[in-house]
Amino acid sequence: MSVPTIREVRAFVVRGGGGDYHDQQGSHWIDDHIATPMSKYPNYRQSRRTFGINVLGTLVVEVEASDGTVGFAVTTGGEPAAWIVEKHLARFIEGAKITDIELMWDQMYRSTLYYGRKGLVVNTISGVDLALWDLLAKWRKEPVYNLLGGAVRDELQFYATGARPDLAKEMGFIGGKMALHHGPAEGEEGLRKNLDILNDMRNKVGKDFWLMQDCWMALDVEYATRFSNIAWNEMGLKWTEEALPPDDYWGYAQLKKNAPKGHLITTGEHEATRWGFKMLLDMECCDIIQPDVGWCGGITELIKITALADAAGVLVVPHGSSVYSYHFVITRHNSPFAEFLMMHPVPDQVVPMFTPLLLDEPVPVNGRLKLDDKPGFGVRLNPECKLSRPYTH
Ligand SMILES: [Mg+2]
Repeated sequence: MSVPTIREVRAFVVRGGGGDYHDQQGSHWIDDHIATPMSKYPNYRQSRRTFGINVLGTLVVEVEASDGTVGFAVTTGGEPAAWIVEKHLARFIEGAKITDIELMWDQMYRSTLYYGRKGLVVNTISGVDLALWDLLAKWRKEPVYNLLGGAVRDELQFYATGARPDLAKEMGFIGGKMALHHGPAEGEEGLRKNLDILNDMRNKVGKDFWLMQDCWMALDVEYATRFSNIAWNEMGLKWTEEALPPDDYWGYAQLKKNAPKGHLITTGEHEATRWGFKMLLDMECCDIIQPDVGWCGGITELIKITALADAAGVLVVPHGSSVYSYHFVITRHNSPFAEFLMMHPVPDQVVPMFTPLLLDEPVPVNGRLKLDDKPGFGVRLNPECKLSRPYTH
């Protein structure tokens, strides 16, 4: 069988914004006084948009093969990511065989080492990588999960991230994770408020439902140690997520030692590549790693990250990212459940994560989801969304 080559790679942004889940307007739980690394500055405390969480916007990468098959993927990165794709990465993609994803990944990563390694550059490489998997699977007329070794379970099981774990419980999710509202700069009063919110929620959901707390890099070791001990002992908090800035591996190692037995320390949402995760694993920083497949290097890299975690006895529960993580999670023994990010503003109903940009995006029913066998990641770009291509090559 002759394998097509890649004719063109194209990078788009969504005109007029949109597509980025952080880009919510009005009162939305996702931007309601959530603790962040910027919370020490009172001017940037109320809303994450004030410090620019939404400045990048969305990146859409399309790859078109010589036989006309088109693969695509959506992640963050916006215009600067589009520039990197068009002006730098395109040379490693165009003309390559669509089966040669490892080769393309290695060339993208090595050629950007002098300004990349993590952050926006690996986020951009991830977008290209996901588009390449979509293309290969569409050409083979198979779902991506078949290319990753096949499903190891019949369906995905989800916990919900949002402000209302009590409603998530009614909707059939196995747990609920809330954002933390007050950082260390808000002192004892802030800590009390954080614990009160958790306590109220524990009373609403009953004693056995999983409750988790996402701290979005906002804490320090001392605060996170106090918080996790009280929250575990008094409210049965299952895990404390991303308590510290991602570069503080030493802090995470200390926090994991300080955390009460049975309580889990999780992190990795803003970590990238096998080497970043090797640091977390070797230094025994956490019990669960949470790579975002659209940021950590794509599926090609997540395969390697997950193998390292498996050997270390650490679970991999990827951050959000919808179909891009679902197709992966269903194929891995050490990813027993998945995250569903509640995009409804309250949130009192389940809505697709990438609306309006994606069509056919599956959502959990009763906290569970069977993946269908549509080719690729099984989603389409919504033609109503206006894409613009800011750079060409
Ligand atoms: Mg998180």
